[in-house]
Amino acid sequence: MELEEIKKRIKDVSEKAEKELLEIVEGESDKLEIWKVKYLGRKGEINNLFALLPHLSSGEKKEAGMLINEMKEKLNTAYEERISITGKQEKHKINLSFPGKRPETGSFHPITIISREISTIFTKMGFGIVTGPDIETDYYNFEALNIPAEHPSKDVWDTFYLSEKEKILLRTHTSPVQIRIMEKTAPPFRVIAIGKCFRRDDIDATHSPVFHQIEGLMVDRGINFSHLKGILTHFIMELFGNNIKVKFTPSFFPFTEPSAEVSMSCNICKGNGCPTCHNTGYIEILGCGMVHPQVFRNVGYDTDEFTGFAFGMGIERLAIIKLGITDIRYFFQNDLRVIKQFS
Ligand SMILES: [Zn+2]
Repeated sequence: MELEEIKKRIKDVSEKAEKELLEIVEGESDKLEIWKVKYLGRKGEINNLFALLPHLSSGEKKEAGMLINEMKEKLNTAYEERISITGKQEKHKINLSFPGKRPETGSFHPITIISREISTIFTKMGFGIVTGPDIETDYYNFEALNIPAEHPSKDVWDTFYLSEKEKILLRTHTSPVQIRIMEKTAPPFRVIAIGKCFRRDDIDATHSPVFHQIEGLMVDRGINFSHLKGILTHFIMELFGNNIKVKFTPSFFPFTEPSAEVSMSCNICKGNGCPTCHNTGYIEILGCGMVHPQVFRNVGYDTDEFTGFAFGMGIERLAIIKLGITDIRYFFQNDLRVIKQFS
């Protein structure tokens, strides 16, 4: 091949390469790499041009070689410039076929789950939901509930006082809500109250200084202990299943008379005995009783006309039994691996 012919070939390759390079646009860095291999690669079209030179005279060889090298340099520079154009838009490129990133979703805390389940059971039986303050006075937390200042049973509640002088405290149970509701509501009514309670307990597997309770109160004409038994038995069976046995045992609370503790057959060992039920086959889950006449008198109710019952239970305890959680501390440590299992 003559020198002139080779020069033309060099020009053709150069023009073709430049034209193709300009056609590569933003975001097409993959095409740019293919172009690079095609022209500037070790076995690319430019290096192939050197194969045409051997039979030329040394002067011609030098001339043609310089032309090829000049072109190679020019195309290299053009390639580097093109990278900045194609690469610039790369990060804005959206591949619509890629699966999206799933946003992290929240889940309900087990205490919320159980509280809602319990609320639903009682609202189906016509109970309304009421609330009361976490910070209470000694009157609502104790006195109005028939627990006078010097009453020995007051020792049972290790109270957090915010001001001992003014008798302001963190409520030790949800029972003060009973008084607040009765003060402003004329019977008949039936309500439940759900909320936090506080006691100066040391933290261990079964105790926490903050915990949740559900309180229930029903007042009407002619309410007796069978209504209490019927409603609580129905509630426990709804929450734990129809095979559960329910047992009422006489007990004492200052604000109810008569009072009872309610146990259910252990759902872990099915009544055969296990560590959870201390081998008794039964687990105590709540306290209840007929509202003490003195409590009614404290809120101005006519004890000849109205009777009622009240009950209270710890939600953590019910959650532990229902969900098989072994330690009350799990509810408060906010370890998402634990909490997420139940939503
Ligand atoms: Zn058991």
